Amino acid sequence: MSKPSPEVYEQGKGMDAHNSVMREIRGRNDESHDPTEPTRVWIDEDNTPDGVYQSLTIILNTGGCRWARAGGCTMCGYVAESVEGGTVAHEDLMTQIQACLDHEEENADDESGLIKIYTSGSFLDEREVPAETRRAIADTFADRDRIVVESLPDFVDREKVTDFTDRGIATDVAVGLETATDRVRHDCVNKYFDFADFEDACAAVREVDADESTADAGVKAYLLMKPPFLSEREAIEDMKRSVRKCAAVEGCHTVSMNPTNVQQFTMVEQLYFRDGYRPPWLWSVAEVLESTADEDVIVVSDPVGHGSDRGAHNCGECDDRVQKAIKDFDLRQDPSVFQQVDCQCEHTWDVVRERERGYNLPLAR
Ligand code: SF4
Ligand SMILES: [Zn+2]
Repeated sequence: MSKPSPEVYEQGKGMDAHNSVMREIRGRNDESHDPTEPTRVWIDEDNTPDGVYQSLTIILNTGGCRWARAGGCTMCGYVAESVEGGTVAHEDLMTQIQACLDHEEENADDESGLIKIYTSGSFLDEREVPAETRRAIADTFADRDRIVVESLPDFVDREKVTDFTDRGIATDVAVGLETATDRVRHDCVNKYFDFADFEDACAAVREVDADESTADAGVKAYLLMKPPFLSEREAIEDMKRSVRKCAAVEGCHTVSMNPTNVQQFTMVEQLYFRDGYRPPWLWSVAEVLESTADEDVIVVSDPVGHGSDRGAHNCGECDDRVQKAIKDFDLRQDPSVFQQVDCQCEHTWDVVRERERGYNLPLAR
């Protein structure tokens, strides 16, 4: 990739330009949301350093991400699902948590050992989730084994993480790093922080982990495969490099590498409508998982909307089989699962990787 000149970052270009386009696109959304209802909740299974757990995943409806209000990331439509006005009261957030516990009771035989809490932003940002609420949530889940909370690196500090570990809950902070390449994170994703900030967040969590009187603490890095403006081959290389760089950071024990999907009210959706964006091939996801399987880190992937036009997809014939192999890999970390799937469309994927460039993408739909 070429180096940007200093003028690219001038007012009205670069990040400012991305933000102003994103604000305009988000402004077209006029849906409103009930502050007492979680955005989503579901039961699943997840691989952790302590083995596979039944998980309760909660998307809490908070006031939404601060960065998204400035414009935000090119692919992120989550803020469209947030409550207008920027804050949700403690009582309402706790009502949402109760609704999630009711969902678990109705839909699972046992309590989930793993709780995962995402917000449409940062759980550790006290403007979204006040300290009082964070501690009440830690009390609610004190009898579970493990919790994952999502946060941008700026809001990660020792004290917030110990709210959970002091109650004996092994704690992972999920950081939306997206890529280990600063240039791609800034210019393609429009995310403002650097890899060094991610390393600092890992160091803060490691301090908690070093404290022998508390439960384990670690970091789960979320990577984004194929943000806009990268060709299929560049996206694959970016992910391989990123998985390896994350694996080398102490404290980061898991990488969740997820393909971009086309969400509403985003720049990615605008490009998609104008034939300028295609989500990655499922073959590309498999290729990255297979080639980084030797790294000392758990790597998982959950291609949302797989097989659809707006999600990672192949030809339509083989999508379910490749998705199944990916899910299998998530639980067992065995790269041989990918040798059991093939399809004619791999030839098209080969050509795309070979010939697609930044100025002619997408080469095939
Ligand atoms: S991806 Fe995360 S940081 Fe970016 S706009 Fe969405 S919620 Fe905010
Ligand atoms: Zn196929």
